Amino acid sequence: MRNMSFTLTTRQVRNRTKTVTRRLGWKFARVGLVVMACVKCQGIPKGGHIEEITPIRFTDLRWEPLNSITQEDVVNEGFPLQSPEWFVDMFVRHNRCAPSEPVHVMTFEYLNTCAVCGEHVTDEFVFGPEHTALHQYVCSPCMIDRMNRGEEPLPF
Ligand SMILES: [Zn+2]
Repeated sequence: MRNMSFTLTTRQVRNRTKTVTRRLGWKFARVGLVVMACVKCQGIPKGGHIEEITPIRFTDLRWEPLNSITQEDVVNEGFPLQSPEWFVDMFVRHNRCAPSEPVHVMTFEYLNTCAVCGEHVTDEFVFGPEHTALHQYVCSPCMIDRMNRGEEPLPF
């Protein structure tokens, strides 16, 4: 699985308030692609490890000029208190591009890693934010399977 860096918005990805990211690349990405959101993917010293946050899945992909961003999408980017002008300035500084640069607008959903089967799945039933934050999540099929075998629904 590919890694995707969320260095500036680690907190927003951890608390799952960010639902879209703008990138200059990722042309190969397709709707349905699952990637691992990480704190930092590049410039990790030898022997260092990549800090994974959560798997995500792209649900909508489009290209538009950077400075077409709306106030609503600034919020979706994880900056509820900032303006579109602020966002464009920040992006231009970090990526050294023009304000009108076409950017890849990548909308995604959060997936949960099941502690039993290890699959990355979306599920309506998230068993408490404390479990999700700890990556301790069991998917519905695994939970039903455990109950059918007379076990506790959750292994933790
Ligand atoms: Zn499972």
